[in-house]
Amino acid sequence: MTLFERIVAGEIPCNKVHENSDFLAFHDINPKAPIHVLAIPKKCVRSFQEVDPSWMGGMTSFIQEVARKLGLDEAGYRVITNIGYDGGQEVPHLHFHILGGARLAWVDLRENENQAKKSL
Ligand code: AMP
Repeated sequence: MTLFERIVAGEIPCNKVHENSDFLAFHDINPKAPIHVLAIPKKCVRSFQEVDPSWMGGMTSFIQEVARKLGLDEAGYRVITNIGYDGGQEVPHLHFHILGGARLAWVDLRENENQAKKSL
């Protein structure tokens, strides 16, 4: 069982933002922006690469509802999904990071590049 399946099952608590029969949104435990929420399907699929495209309509509407509920829809926000090792995915259960509440930086994401710069 993935960490997020355990959250869906109520075995691990979460700070819930929104929910319907298929999807759940809750605050990220280690926020990277003033508002950082995760939106997940309740049924586990490993990543975006493996999702049935027919799920994505419902997932999209759900993310839009969450953004409205958080008051992010007017000012804007960012949606990210990490996929696999190079994508930096830590939890193997599809999730979309919804980030906002401030003007977000657009940074160089290359881990090796950043490490190389640090060692100069
Ligand atoms: P990723 O690296 O894309 O797999 O993102 C996993 C995210 O899950 C990270 O941003 C973590 O901070 C977050 N996370 C891990 N455990 C929890 C938890 N118990 N409740 C909320 N968020 C969590």
